[in-house]
Amino acid sequence: MIYLNMNFDSLNKRIKKIGIILSVYSVLFIIAIPGVVLSALNGIWALLGVCVLLVFSGIYVLTIGWSFWAKMIINRNIAVAIVEDGITNIKTLATAFGKWERIMRRDVAQIMRKRYITGYVFNEKRTELVRTERSKREEAQKAESLQRKKCESCGAALIIGAKACCHCGVMI
Ligand SMILES: [Zn+2]
Repeated sequence: MIYLNMNFDSLNKRIKKIGIILSVYSVLFIIAIPGVVLSALNGIWALLGVCVLLVFSGIYVLTIGWSFWAKMIINRNIAVAIVEDGITNIKTLATAFGKWERIMRRDVAQIMRKRYITGYVFNEKRTELVRTERSKREEAQKAESLQRKKCESCGAALIIGAKACCHCGVMI
């Protein structure tokens, strides 16, 4: 069952945004390398300064940035596996993502700390994620309110997630 209160849209947007910024930085970095030589040869000192700055900062920013970005994607995928595929066993998650169980437990803890997922806690032995009572309650309430929705045109009950009434065809 999908946890209705959670979606990954804002996280996906953030991943996309960081990816674009890093891509632009990478292109500038690549241009700056021959740029250092060309601007030095032609005596364009301001440009030389910019190119040197880009090359040196790029080495750090891009190395750290891209690995941070890759980690974000993996964590997003783990979060999706937990929430949408319902894989809550740490050992199963570890196998699925090719990690040691110990590392997966640490990563899942980080995912929860960063609030990629909410409404879960570790069980006592930290082998499994369990839903908090509060999140179950909130989900039940939300599911109920969705089920109660009726078509404004004909009064038929609407199907969750449908874009149009299945009875009269009016767009919702
Ligand atoms: Zn209708």
